[in-house]
Amino acid sequence: MSDAGFDFELTHTDGRARRGVLTTPHGAVETPAFMPVGTQGAVKGVTHRELKEVGAEIILGNTYHLYLRPGDDLIARRGGLHAFIGWDRPILTDSGGYQVFSLAARRTIDEEGARFKSHLDGSAHLLTPERAADIQAQLGSDIAMVLDECLAHPAELPAARASMERTLRWARRARTRMEALRAGTVDGVTVTNPGQAQFGIVQGSVFPGLREESARETVAIGFEAYAIGGLSVGEPADVMYDIVGLTTPWLPEDRPRYLMGTGTPGDLVESVARGIDLFDCVLPTRNARNGQLFTSAGRINIKNARYAEDDRPPDPSCGCYTCRTCSRAYLRHLFTAGEINASTLNTLHNLHFYLDTMRGIRDAIAFGRFESFRLAFHERVSRQPVDS
Ligand SMILES: [Zn+2]
Repeated sequence: MSDAGFDFELTHTDGRARRGVLTTPHGAVETPAFMPVGTQGAVKGVTHRELKEVGAEIILGNTYHLYLRPGDDLIARRGGLHAFIGWDRPILTDSGGYQVFSLAARRTIDEEGARFKSHLDGSAHLLTPERAADIQAQLGSDIAMVLDECLAHPAELPAARASMERTLRWARRARTRMEALRAGTVDGVTVTNPGQAQFGIVQGSVFPGLREESARETVAIGFEAYAIGGLSVGEPADVMYDIVGLTTPWLPEDRPRYLMGTGTPGDLVESVARGIDLFDCVLPTRNARNGQLFTSAGRINIKNARYAEDDRPPDPSCGCYTCRTCSRAYLRHLFTAGEINASTLNTLHNLHFYLDTMRGIRDAIAFGRFESFRLAFHERVSRQPVDS
């Protein structure tokens, strides 16, 4: 399929796993892909140069944070988010909805949208499907997400149905707005990236019937591609895998599929096995800052006293800068001393591990050996922490 500035080509399939190339106005992304989270226009702890060196082809920006500070008007006056932050590769922005639901104070949701008070200064705001589209048009990300309602888990069926139906009504409004933005008929909004794509979001909690209905109706609206939202919110992993596995068959084969906010390395492998192409998650970066490293033998907590005189690299089979130059003993010392470099070095390693896992997945799909990759991966990596 191809739309202006946006294209997706499926190059290999292996079982339900897919390999492809996503093309955006700021370049191509090989899928399945992992997007590091750059909340405030920066991936915490690392520079853009380091991100490129570990192989990040696309990053995610959080609309809620950028809208509140420094503001989408200011960013639009700088020419958009790419120019403002100095990142010339693809960017996906979320709608801001998730942070409104999780961070904002005194939020109320009605049919119009989400009213909330800023967590920074208490100022009052209204985020509607139209505003979420406008703000992202000013940011000029390559992929914009529709505003959806984020339901807490667990939810009863009637509440999940009502929320899924509201998300559909909001999706229709978001698409109508996007068409107006593309036609240049929205006053006061600077479209800084005319090739921006818009993804719809499938909701429906853990109810298969709702997921199917949401997928069918969202696809009927017609977006450049589709995401699965409302998972990784506290449900057991096998429930998440089941919902992913029964939702992807309702999504078009020729469009990328994005599983939002997931997950562990094992989650990525299992979701690729069910037909997912795009991921984002704060786990590799957030856990790095807390001293937890993902390695090819499982997770290690570098602050553990057992590493005080351990001269091995964090992961002897990893080729990242941190593993080539630092011992566990040194990293533990930096972490214990509260050195800024501890965050940077740990983040570099974790991102390298995630992105290298995706490279391994893509290679396995291309060679038709994804199933053996998957089994070996779980045997090696998806275990309890090796030091607890
Ligand atoms: Zn490493």
